[in-house]
Amino acid sequence: MKKLNIFLLLSLITVNLFPQQKTAESTELYSPVPPVVTPGESSKPPSDAIILFDGTSFDQWVNDNGNAVEWIMREGCMTIKPGSGNIKTKRWFGDCQLHIEWRCPTPSVKKEADTNTEQGFGNSGILLQSRYELQIFDSYNYPDYHNGKPIYVNGQAGSVYKQVIPLVNACKKQGEWQIYDIIYMAPRFSDNGRISIPARITVLHNGVLIINNSEILGSMNYIGLPEYRPHGLKEPLSLQEHGDPVSYRNIWIREL
Ligand code: MG
Repeated sequence: MKKLNIFLLLSLITVNLFPQQKTAESTELYSPVPPVVTPGESSKPPSDAIILFDGTSFDQWVNDNGNAVEWIMREGCMTIKPGSGNIKTKRWFGDCQLHIEWRCPTPSVKKEADTNTEQGFGNSGILLQSRYELQIFDSYNYPDYHNGKPIYVNGQAGSVYKQVIPLVNACKKQGEWQIYDIIYMAPRFSDNGRISIPARITVLHNGVLIINNSEILGSMNYIGLPEYRPHGLKEPLSLQEHGDPVSYRNIWIREL
């Protein structure tokens, strides 16, 4: 007991002789200085963004098969031509912030296009690194709109397809423009090809948080469980053609 008291006494003396510097300045950091970025105004991209689509050209894109894009460009947006295939960026990306605006077709547009009638109403998707799908779908007024036949919630708009259910349904009506703002961290693989750090994703849908830093379980898989197959740190960004004339505009990306 005596020994313990002596130890405490010595500790108190030491603390008083050499007090820690508790000043406001001691917790203030001055580097690294964050670079200045001019925020976009009225849905314009920020100054350091790579513009992937501004409504005027397909310069940044190719068909999945390597040929020219066959999607239709008019009135400042591109619209999926059913049956023409996915498109992908010529540049490859890993960790990123992605802004993308999309619009589901109205029933009349769908009828004109005579597209997939089973469940494919406004079905498209953002395929991060060409394999991890953030779903695009007409989920407004879910589930009544589809004649009472609901789609699974991990397949509705804003889901990581067959994996992550969105926190809320922030969908606008078909025919109205919608926005996804995505923060994506690519997966890392070890030398033996095993996954070492899974991909993660955060999504704002029309300004509302719908996915909050969720882990991605593997590549999109319609049948069976998702699984990881090794790939590079950077891969093309793809947009899915699923038979429906979904439109896109104002796509930009910031590499992280
Ligand atoms: Mg899809």
